[in-house]
Amino acid sequence: MPDSPLPRTSAPPLLSDGQELVVDGRVLQVRVSSRRSKLGLTVERDGTLTLRAPLACETDRAEEFVRTGRLWIDGKLRLRDQLRPVHPTRGFIDGETYRYLGREYRLLLVDEPGAPVRLSAGRLRLDRATAADTQLARRSVTAWYRRVGLSWAQGRLQPWAARMDVMEPDVTVRDVGRRWGTYRPGDTGGGQMALHWAVFQLPAQLVDYVIAHELAHIRVAGHGPDYWRLLRRAIPECKRLKDELDEMGRRVWLGDVSAER
Ligand SMILES: [Zn+2]
Repeated sequence: MPDSPLPRTSAPPLLSDGQELVVDGRVLQVRVSSRRSKLGLTVERDGTLTLRAPLACETDRAEEFVRTGRLWIDGKLRLRDQLRPVHPTRGFIDGETYRYLGREYRLLLVDEPGAPVRLSAGRLRLDRATAADTQLARRSVTAWYRRVGLSWAQGRLQPWAARMDVMEPDVTVRDVGRRWGTYRPGDTGGGQMALHWAVFQLPAQLVDYVIAHELAHIRVAGHGPDYWRLLRRAIPECKRLKDELDEMGRRVWLGDVSAER
């Protein structure tokens, strides 16, 4: 009887670094690393999916791993959508809505050349000629937020500092980028607190939360358990306020101007 050749078993396909793996319609960027021993999934900030794999990982095994993690991926993508910033734009047109301490005010264009932006009789008044120049209008309106915000914050600082038993810092209101406030200790005195002008669009209790949050940093740097214990003593509902700030904060106007008017 002639020898029959052994059936050739082809080696199962392996994942390769940089490939795209498609599993049930989902596209995953594959990263293979000799430092890994297990498979891992990451939802990146831009919503793309990364599959991290050890060397010589079989494609079948990876696909099965992704299928098992389907619900986790969906949950992550949903959460990412819910937390996505949706900051609106403004065009400085008559009747447009602006918020100050949680209340809505309609913009009223007035013919008062050179008049500063001001809140009067329930309307935010802006000179028409200023409004016509969007960059000038943007500067004028954000300067108004800085001005009224600073004077409001100065009135709140002393009571909060007394309640938290810290020295009053100097306060400025400006654009602090992606944060609502910052605190820097000083060589003398209470240090420097900066608040974002955009925060003054939010309800007063949330601005108070931001102020108390920064004041607590006078005693404790970082956001460890000691920090939250201290803040909770001053504001028992601080966790709820933080969630509200996260939720409402992603929808405040950050100074972006509408492309079309
Ligand atoms: Zn902080």
